Amino acid sequence: MQKNIAMLNLRREYEYMKPQIDAAIERCLGHQRWIGGAELKEFEKRVAEYLGVRHALGVSSGTDALVIALRALALKREDKEYFTPGDEVLTTPFTFSATGEAILRSGATPVFVDVDERTFNIRADLIEDYIETHPEPEKIKGTVVVHLFGQAAPMGEVMDVARRYGLFVVEDTAQAFGGEWKGKKLGTLGDAGCYSFFPSKNLGGFGDGGMVVSNDEGLADYMRILANHGGRDKYMVELLGYNARLDTVQAAVLGVRLAYLDEFNERRRRIASLYNRGLEEVEGIITPVEVEEAFHVYHQYTLRVTNGRRDGLREWLKERGVATMVYYPTPLSRMKLFEDRAKTHRGLETAETLSREVISLPVEPLQEDEETTHIVDSIKEFMGPVEP
Ligand SMILES: *Cc1c(COP(=O)(O)O)cnc(C)c1O
Repeated sequence: MQKNIAMLNLRREYEYMKPQIDAAIERCLGHQRWIGGAELKEFEKRVAEYLGVRHALGVSSGTDALVIALRALALKREDKEYFTPGDEVLTTPFTFSATGEAILRSGATPVFVDVDERTFNIRADLIEDYIETHPEPEKIKGTVVVHLFGQAAPMGEVMDVARRYGLFVVEDTAQAFGGEWKGKKLGTLGDAGCYSFFPSKNLGGFGDGGMVVSNDEGLADYMRILANHGGRDKYMVELLGYNARLDTVQAAVLGVRLAYLDEFNERRRRIASLYNRGLEEVEGIITPVEVEEAFHVYHQYTLRVTNGRRDGLREWLKERGVATMVYYPTPLSRMKLFEDRAKTHRGLETAETLSREVISLPVEPLQEDEETTHIVDSIKEFMGPVEP
């Protein structure tokens, strides 16, 4: 039988929880409180409890979550609505473009720092190296770290460097809802955590949505104001803000999906372990490394193909009914948007190498073992026999 294995199967996930989702949407249809309804308050409260954080604010997307967090930090730390031109924020070039875009929107200049080839995440030693060799280190305001593919950035070292040099830390947790660092939920370790509920994320809604969280009351206050047109009072605004709220109906759907999150993250981890077991020994493939301190939630399962046959492998899998993706084919530093607007620290060789080698395989939480096995077998067939 011809296989058809997609990266995700959102219909299958919907069917799995259909009665609850339908009921949640029905309730919204009943009360018609589309903005700021009870489901939103309830969802924010449950997320705050789940993450173990004091303040959680639903917003319109993960990108807006990042922009709002960064601008709230400019307000709180610099007493400015935007960062001053020339202020710098360090981040990874190996991420979705929105990470860098949000830094630009906050008025700061993104500075790209290379990543660790094992974890694909930012290197804290290079952050420190950048600061140490900077002629005007006071321009460096903070860092946006990304917990890429569901695995924690090196939060121990990052927080240590940040503390020593007085930098803020924003956690782009768009791909790692429920992931952990030493038992603490990602997004709650730095000054602010930003999440995306884009439908393909590991906690996804039925449209765009996001969340910002913080333990800092003053920061959370600024975030709430910025997401609501820039005012505490709707008819007396203070700041240049946004209409960037999370819809009631999205919160209702996400509330149902949140109850399945731990189960789905475990299912993702199980699929990852099947892939690891099947592919560990295959010549030319490097399976993803799990850092000891991290609880990896495998938003993506991403291999490195080190023998130059990555694109051939994708084609081969496609012919066998298996979808794959390349996250990410281009480091941010090479995108036109950032050409004249960002800086680069030393070379970004690892990000460049990874962009040529990575391939992400389907990790649909409800994927059958037989589907995972078909993918493993197809990869082995292409890559050739395992060395004895
Ligand atoms: C998806 C994503 C975003 C943006 O989230 P949206 O909800 O699509 O705006 C930001 N950063 C990373 C790392 C992402 O994966």
